[in-house]
Parts: sequence; structure tokens; C-alpha cells
Amino acid sequence: MTAVFRFAPSPNGYLHLGHALSALLNQKLAQAAGGRMLLRIEDIDTARCTPALKAAMLEDLRWIGFAHEELPRRQSEHFGEYAAALARLQSMGLVYEAYLTRSEIRGFVAETEAQGKPWPQDPDGAPLYPGDAALLGAGEIERRRASGAPFALRLDMRKAVSLLKGPLCWQEEGAEGQGRTVTADPLAWGDVILARKDTPTSYHLSVTLDDALQGVTHVVRGQDLFLATSVHRLLQVLLGLPEPRYHHHRLILGADGRKLSKSEGHTALRELRAAGWTVEDVRRRIGI
Ligand code: GLU
Repeated sequence: MTAVFRFAPSPNGYLHLGHALSALLNQKLAQAAGGRMLLRIEDIDTARCTPALKAAMLEDLRWIGFAHEELPRRQSEHFGEYAAALARLQSMGLVYEAYLTRSEIRGFVAETEAQGKPWPQDPDGAPLYPGDAALLGAGEIERRRASGAPFALRLDMRKAVSLLKGPLCWQEEGAEGQGRTVTADPLAWGDVILARKDTPTSYHLSVTLDDALQGVTHVVRGQDLFLATSVHRLLQVLLGLPEPRYHHHRLILGADGRKLSKSEGHTALRELRAAGWTVEDVRRRIGI
């Protein structure tokens, strides 16, 4: 079976050295495996992923010598497919309308913690979704529904996990876990969002579905997404999708020891290019 790799950036800012590492590592591993190399543009956030940023992204990838098959998949052109997957989860009774606003969640967490009860956070540091019933009561939920208040669609995580027939794991091939089996812990994420108030899908849903639809066999991406794999594995089982292998790679850290972000312009590939860096300089800096 031909190995299929993908690099899947979100063009909501300029690509930086961390993206260069991810793209070129994918390319290196795909070449070594005699596999295919796909590019997927993760632009479900149609407000932030502007045409100008998408064009800049393609230009930067060309500059570093990232070669991929033609016609990258653009997620913004596939909302219908995400809706179909969502409908399937809904038909299983695993999805609910979530009306709490950010400030209501914040207020609830502050109140709970003021009583000396720490409120759990997900691996990204966001408070777990408290659920609408306890905070709003059935009457208020109904009132919001009837008045057309905006809602997100969330996965009922406990119910979803209760459907699993055995342990949930993935095969990790990243530097720290050559061939290691990792036990997934989706409960750590609570009721994740499947469709946002302003976007009819979410990162977790679209990334999982697309990897399957594109026949991806090897997911190579940054260590910052290691724990999110728990959610992706769960969605794969719920939706009957194949299980790719995973390779989470080291992150490129900034001078302050923190992971690079797109808002740090000085590590943006185009800034480095403008400052006279060559592709060889980039490769040396990221060690590839
Ligand atoms: N689009 C995601 C990002 O740019 C990466 C998705 C993935 O590789 O799974 O952070």
C-alpha cells in the first residue's frame, strides 16, 4: 500500500520556521517511504484565512522547496462533507446544542474556584465545558433555542467514550516514541466543539474526516497536537474511519524558549527571506 503523507497548515498568519520543519520533515519521510505528499489548506476559519495569506503560504512553501501533489484540498470547499459526518454523530445521539457564552463559562469557573473547588482544564488550558443543563436549567435552554440564540455543537464526551468496545490507542512513531503504543484519553478534553457558532465545523472534526477521505496513512505534525490525537482517534472509531500512524515532531522554540507562533513576525519565513536568509539557512536552523 502506498504511504500517504499530508502537510496541513492553517493560513491564518504567515508560515514560520515551525511550519518549515513540519513540511520538510513530511517531505523527507514521504520520499523515504516512496509515498505521496499532499497539501491540505485548513481554512475553515474563512474570516482569518484570507486569500492573501493563502497565496503567501503557497509562495513560502515553494520557496523552501516543499513539493506536493497538485490541487491541494481546501477545507472551506468541503463544509457539506463535515456536515454529513456531524449528522451521523447526531443520529447516534452524541451531539448537543451548547448555548453558554464565553463569559458565562468564565463566570461559572471563577465562582466554582472561589469556593475552593478547582475546575478542570483541557490539555490546551481551556476550562472543560460545564454543560448547559446545570448552569441554565431546561427553561432557559428552551428560551434560547426558541429565540434563535447562537449555539455551538458539542460532543457528549462521556456518552461517546461509553460506546467504545475496548481501549483506545494510537501508534506513535515520533522521536520520543519509536513504535510506541499510546493510550488515548479523550475524556481529558471534555465536550469538544464539533461545529462552532460561526463555522459549521471544527478543527477536530474536519482534520479527522479529511485524513480519512484523503487516504492519509501517516500523520506527521507538531508535538503540540500530540494530545489532540485522543479526540481524533475517538472520532475515527465513532465514524468508522481508518486509523493512520502518527508521528509528532519536536517544535522549534523561540529565543524565549516558547513555541513559535504566527504572530511572531520575526520568524516568519518571508521576513527571514527578506532579511537575506537562504533556504539552506532555514534548513540548518531547523536541523533538516
Ligand atoms: N491545521 C493545523 C495547524 O496548522 C494542523 C493540523 C494537523 O496537522 O493535524 O496547526
